[in-house]
Order: sequence, then structure tokens, then C-alpha cells
Amino acid sequence: KVRVRFAPSPTGPLHIGGVRTALFNYLFAKKNGGDFVLRIEDTDQNRYVEGAEEYIAEALNWCGIPFDEGPGKEGSFGPYRQSERKHLYKAYALELIEKGHAYYAFDTSERLDFHRKDHEAKGKTFIYNWHNRLKLSNSLSLTTEETQKKLDAGEDYVIRFKSPQDQQLVLDDIIRGEIKIDTNILDDKIIFKSDGMPTYHLANIVDDHLMEITHVIRGEEWLPSLALHQLLYNAFDWKAPEFAHLPLIMKPVGKGKLSKRDGEKGGFPVFPLSWNESQGYREAGYFPEAVVNFLALLGWNPGTEQELFSLEELIKAFSLERVNKSGARFDPEKTKWYNHQYLQKKSDEELASSFITFLQKSFTSLPESAVKLEYVTKVVSLIKERADYVSDFWELGNYFFEAPAAYNEKAVKKQWKEDTPQLMQKVAEILAATEDFSSATAEANVKAWITENELSFGKVMGPLRLIIVGELKGPHIFDILALLGKEESVTRIKKALE
Ligand code: GLU
Repeated sequence: KVRVRFAPSPTGPLHIGGVRTALFNYLFAKKNGGDFVLRIEDTDQNRYVEGAEEYIAEALNWCGIPFDEGPGKEGSFGPYRQSERKHLYKAYALELIEKGHAYYAFDTSERLDFHRKDHEAKGKTFIYNWHNRLKLSNSLSLTTEETQKKLDAGEDYVIRFKSPQDQQLVLDDIIRGEIKIDTNILDDKIIFKSDGMPTYHLANIVDDHLMEITHVIRGEEWLPSLALHQLLYNAFDWKAPEFAHLPLIMKPVGKGKLSKRDGEKGGFPVFPLSWNESQGYREAGYFPEAVVNFLALLGWNPGTEQELFSLEELIKAFSLERVNKSGARFDPEKTKWYNHQYLQKKSDEELASSFITFLQKSFTSLPESAVKLEYVTKVVSLIKERADYVSDFWELGNYFFEAPAAYNEKAVKKQWKEDTPQLMQKVAEILAATEDFSSATAEANVKAWITENELSFGKVMGPLRLIIVGELKGPHIFDILALLGKEESVTRIKKALE
């Protein structure tokens, strides 16, 4: 059975790059009828950030890609926090020592610094591996008795993996294909520390094995660790999972990967949910479906022109073979486009009720009657075409809730002629006399009068719109009038003529 995991370290909010990794894991799992596991990799206690784990779970839930197993959703492979599995790892490190694949090292950081500087001075780089290990202080260079003495004396130690010499490793990645590595360039990575904690590498491999993970899908930044991971699997005599390293998400312009700063500079979120000062997609008014849709297309392509996908469609269409090797450029305009598309698909009533929540939060002074669902639903149906976010509705339709406080001056200069007051007076009268105050009737009545008197349409419609809306924008003017109602429409005209 396919089992995949998302394995973030709780060191802060999840970046959307992390959400994309989670999403691809989720899609792959669901496509194959498998399980999606959340594992919290919190072995580095110095980097632990309060609230980060809750944030991660909430972000996945908000996106609609919940995990099947994880903290708080125990399956048969828990616990799912590495800090709670702490007791487990040492035996594995010792097993590797036993098998001759790892060793104790006692070098102090001063000593290592010395070696680094010494090498630098000779124009070389110091690597702790086959090349140097016998000159250093460890259980390979010391006698068994010397090593035991140090351990008994409680000296600080680390356990290092013994990277093999002169081997040609052939690694396989579903997205990148074959990768060849000469083991001579690898260093002897620390896998366990005397504080009783494993490092990322050991804990990650042990847990993937114990949790029966079949596919490791993660960001490209972990590709350099792949050789070590493969070697660890070999050393344990375990079958390695298959690997797929996802391409980086790149800045909108220029080189390098998308960062928090790009978001700050460009005024777009890089986090799914807000975190301290940083705004999230949720709070910026994005629909989770839109976020999932644009993230899916960052690095994956369906091989067709289709851009809009529901989650079900993504699950159906997804395959790791169609993930690109090269970095995926992040385009904030495109994310906005996606939100626009999803907004258009929502029902007017659903949009209206979110808009009412927004209105009640932002404008406590609005009259109760202005925020009635039936009314707001009609408002939304008239203005949503131009909206990217629910919050745009205010900018696009504030005049449905309060009479314009001022009229656009430039437009007034152009539109307001000597005979305008007289014409508007007449429009007010016609509207007042319109019995069935629908858009069509009001329009028919006003237009009949215009034609009868051989007036120009512009001379009437421009000022009328200004009076009602405050600017020369908005949907069909008679639709607006009909929705505002006779009384309010006539009042606005009269007020403008005072
Ligand atoms: N804990 C690692 C991270 O923070 C996991 C990497 C992996 O998936 O192996 O991304």
C-alpha cells in the first residue's frame, strides 16, 4: 500500500513551498488509494517554535488536504512526533556501529575549527571522511580501550556515519532519473549526538522505515542528502522507498527561490495563514481551492491546456512523472487570476454571506437593513464580475450601502452642464412616477422621455450615474436604481440638486 509522509520541522510557519510539498504528497497518496502521514520532525530542540505544529495542521486542514495519520490522529505507526520517539533511535545508531558503518567521534569544536583553518591556509577544504578520519579523534583512530575509556568518562561524543570510499553510487529519482555520485566527496555525517538526540538524517530514515513509507516526496533542497540516505538504507539492509525531489519555487523575477522578503516587497502572501506580521492567503481573501489549484501547477503540468482543476480532478490527473525538473516561477498575478476564477464560480448567496461578515467587521456603522442576505446577494450578482476577492466588493459596490459622500470632481467638471439640474429634476419625477420600479420599466420610462425630447443619452446618463454612484463606474445604471429602490434613488437625485 502506498504510504507517503509530509515531515516538516516545527521551526516556524509553513511556507507555501511546504504546502506544495504536502499537496503533492496528498495527491499522490489519494491517486493511489494510499495514506498521507504527517510526521513532526522536532529533534532539533533549539529551533522549536511554539505554535508551529498547530499552524501546520491548521494550514493543511484549511487547504482541504488533511492528513490520515499524524499527531492527534493516531494510526498504527505512532507516535508521530520525533521528540516522542526519542528512545527509539539510539539502538539504530549502535547497530550501525556494530556493523562497522558508523563510529564514535570525540573531536571538540575547537579541534575541528583548527583543522578547517589549517586546510584553508593550504588552499584545501577540510572534509571529515575517509581522507581525514584516521587523523582525528574517534573510535576508528583510537583503540577499543581508549574509546571505551572516553565513553565511561562521559566525554561528549557524536556518532558519525562512515561514508564508504571509492564507490560509485547510482541513485534513482522519479523526477530526475539517475544520479551518479562518487562517495569520495561525501563527508561522515553526524547521525547521533551525546545529548541523546538523533540528527535529521538518522531519525528521518528510521521513521520512514518504521512507518513503512513507500515514496518520499520532498523539496529539491533535500537532494544533496539523498546519497547519505541511500547509504543508510543499504547499511541497515532495508529496502529504500522511492524518491521524488520537487523543483524549487522561484521568485517572480530574477534568480533564486521565493522568500518571505519577495512577498513583503511584492505585497503578496507566501504563507497559507497569517503568522505574526505576515499575512496569509486565508486572511488576504483567497479561497483554499484557488490556492490548491495554483500550487498544483507550480512544478506539475497536466500535459494539456487545462488550468482550472478541482481537488478531485487534480487527484485524477496527478502523476510524479509530470513534475518538472526545473524551478517553477511564482507569479502573483496568476494566483490572483485563480482567485478571480473561483470567485466567479461561487454562488451569489455564498459570496454575499462572506461579504456580510466582512462588512460587519469593517463597518460597524452600517444600518442593519443594508446587510440583509437577500439584498447583498443581489448586490453581489451585479458587481462580482470585476472582483478578485470578496473584499473587493466594497470598493466596487459601496454605493449600494451608503449614498456617495462626494462626487468625483473630474467627472463632475465634464458631466455637469448648465441644464443638468433641470434634466435630473425631470429624471427624479419620472422615477417617482414609475409604478413597477424594475430596471426595465425605469429604463423604458427614462428613455422614452429622452427620445421624445430629442435629448442626448450621455447628458442624462453621465450625471445620473455620478449622482447615484459618485463616480462614472459600476454596472448598468437602471439595475442599480432598481436595487436601491425608488425612494433611495429619488432621494439621491434630490440631494444632489440641493
Ligand atoms: N524535516 C525535513 C523538513 O523540514 C524533512 C525533509 C524530508 O522530507 O525528508 O523539510
